[in-house]
Amino acid sequence: MTQNIPEIYGSLVFNDKIMRKKLPKDMYKALKKTIENGAHLELDVANSVAVAMKEWAIENGATHYTHWFQPMTNVTAEKHDSFISPTGDGQIIMDFSGKELVKGEPDASSFPSGGLRATFEARGYTAWDPTSPAFIKDGTLYIPTAFCSYSGEALDKKTPLLRSMDTLNTEALRILKILGNTSVKHVTTTVGPEQEYFLIDKEDYRKRKDLILCGRTLIGAPAPKGQEMEDHYFGTLKPRVSAFMHDLDEELWKLGIPAKTKHNEVAPAQHELAPVFDTTNVAVDHNQLTMEIMKKVADKHGLICLLHEKPFEGINGSGKHNNWSMTTDQGDNLLDPGKTPAENIQFLVFLVAVIQAVDEYADLLRISVASAGNDHRLGANEAPPAIVSIFLGDELTAVLQAIENDEYFNEKGAVQMDIGAKVLPHFVKDNTDRNRTSPFAFTGNKFEFRMLGSAASVANPNIILNTAVAEVLRQFSEKLEKVPAEELLSAVHKLVKDTVIAHKRVLFNGNGYTDEWVEEAEKRGLYNLKSTPEALPHWVDEKNIRLFTEHKIFTKGELYSRYEIWLETYYKTINIESNAMVEMVQKDLLPAVFKYTEELAQTAQLKKSVLPDVSTSSEGTMITRLSSLTDSMVAGLEKLKADTAQAHGIEDPQKCADMYESVVLADMEELRKAADEAEELIPDTLLPYPTYGRMLFYV
Ligand code: ADP
Ligand code: MG
Repeated sequence: MTQNIPEIYGSLVFNDKIMRKKLPKDMYKALKKTIENGAHLELDVANSVAVAMKEWAIENGATHYTHWFQPMTNVTAEKHDSFISPTGDGQIIMDFSGKELVKGEPDASSFPSGGLRATFEARGYTAWDPTSPAFIKDGTLYIPTAFCSYSGEALDKKTPLLRSMDTLNTEALRILKILGNTSVKHVTTTVGPEQEYFLIDKEDYRKRKDLILCGRTLIGAPAPKGQEMEDHYFGTLKPRVSAFMHDLDEELWKLGIPAKTKHNEVAPAQHELAPVFDTTNVAVDHNQLTMEIMKKVADKHGLICLLHEKPFEGINGSGKHNNWSMTTDQGDNLLDPGKTPAENIQFLVFLVAVIQAVDEYADLLRISVASAGNDHRLGANEAPPAIVSIFLGDELTAVLQAIENDEYFNEKGAVQMDIGAKVLPHFVKDNTDRNRTSPFAFTGNKFEFRMLGSAASVANPNIILNTAVAEVLRQFSEKLEKVPAEELLSAVHKLVKDTVIAHKRVLFNGNGYTDEWVEEAEKRGLYNLKSTPEALPHWVDEKNIRLFTEHKIFTKGELYSRYEIWLETYYKTINIESNAMVEMVQKDLLPAVFKYTEELAQTAQLKKSVLPDVSTSSEGTMITRLSSLTDSMVAGLEKLKADTAQAHGIEDPQKCADMYESVVLADMEELRKAADEAEELIPDTLLPYPTYGRMLFYV
């Protein structure tokens, strides 16, 4: 690359440097106040920012602007308006006002709302999120926004995310103050999402209806080679992949996305990208953009980027690791053990708060990663199990054990300086293999939540994490607030100890893939919510409604609407998969099998006509086998169609999703067995779509 990276980095972003340059000093200061402390934005400031943004955008080739938002689908939404404004004399000026910057009014009637909004009041509005920077893409100025209905209900993922960051800030500040840390003004959560994806050839993709319609293959015999040689993970990048990654990095850097690490993943044709972490809402926006840019850049290289959680049966699917921590405005990571006893105590309080939050709201964390796609991964010995547990590593586990046994603090409640663990060591990340099976692992100064699917927005898991931790911190503050100063240390000690004892059932350092763990987890009373329809009803459990409404993240109405949207998304996804599979088996595979059967029969007949005594038993055996498989496929198709029709007709969304999960998916699996076996028996030249071997090894 010959580009000057520091120069192109963020060149398409309306960032601090540009703002400082373009805005009058007082306006810049006022905007910074809004960004950093959430201060109310006055209209004159908005107007001034709008003018600066417009000028900068036009200088950089933009003609349009859009309020960019994240509705309850997995993709982002945008509606572009040009800056032009007729002046009445056949001329135009390029215009953009503060009002247009701050608020937009897209017609929202076609976005999922889960019954929140009747169509007669279909309008929603988008509100600028000044904490996530605006940027230019394809000649349009993108303004990150939250999306609400006119009565103020959230119709997107951003609104509750911002609310959850707020509540975490409030509760973290409150407990920090109790602990004597009064200089901190703001606490934000930080996220670094590692993103996995597959790359396959565009021409191959175009021939597969399942990939085009569903993003995953619904049939396909295994390739002769899979991932058993473990030669892909961290392997040399093939030239085409490397060229793609170069381009991708550059595009992301221009948008101010700090793409940092790239490498081949475990499965053939699978890769990963990780950025440097950022404030949560920015990281969420950036991850959405990253997924979009990945697809776009792949296309330019004649490739297709698959973000589905399980594009190929039998080889690892793709996930996303949500690295998460909390940081102060002074740059201190609250999950860093620190160097002094006081920092240690603060660390322990936040650590056990996370432990309690994960234990009490494990069901919500599971739901936050639930989707039809991710159901193929969780619990399938490649991704974490569906049971949420926490890995702390040996060192930190020993520290918590010492606390439990009163060996860690002295009688005054202070951290022991002379014996045992002393001041907490700086934990090095535990790199043992088993820790890869853990859904939620402490990795030195952050937690890594590993259950996320590759395709989904990372907003939901972070809404849950922020809110659940805020709630526990709130409870902690209530316990400690009334304690006299001289008793504070021992009260904190007791709190940490009690929390460890009450919630240690969620701690597990072992191998999460074993049956013993499943049994053990059940004994411990941990949730094991295997599928999306099994998990979703817990969303509206009493304790969860209380959590969300008390912290003003969701109203009860918003909660039920989300429950409904997710159920709907789930059963619609499987319905499409079922239809696509029927179409592919019926129109692509069966004709190919019949064609081959015909060729075999003709071969046998021809052979007999020239050499009456020659054996045709190989043709006969093949024809018999193929006929039996086509019988199974035809029967399987009929059953799948009938069951899908029945499931489709079920009115109650939960029951409908249940039937798709328990019956339709099972039918698809059964049909797939015969289809894959038949595919193995016929020549590639007769198959109208590429095989697994072709897709996975020919880029
Ligand atoms: P891995 O070996 O799992 O790839 P890394 O140390 O490379 O682990 O980190 C993975 C991700 O974690 C990166 O995106 C990184 O920026 C992010 N990360 C590091 N520190 C923090 C933090 N304090 N908060 C959130 N994310 C973080
Ligand atoms: Mg990782």
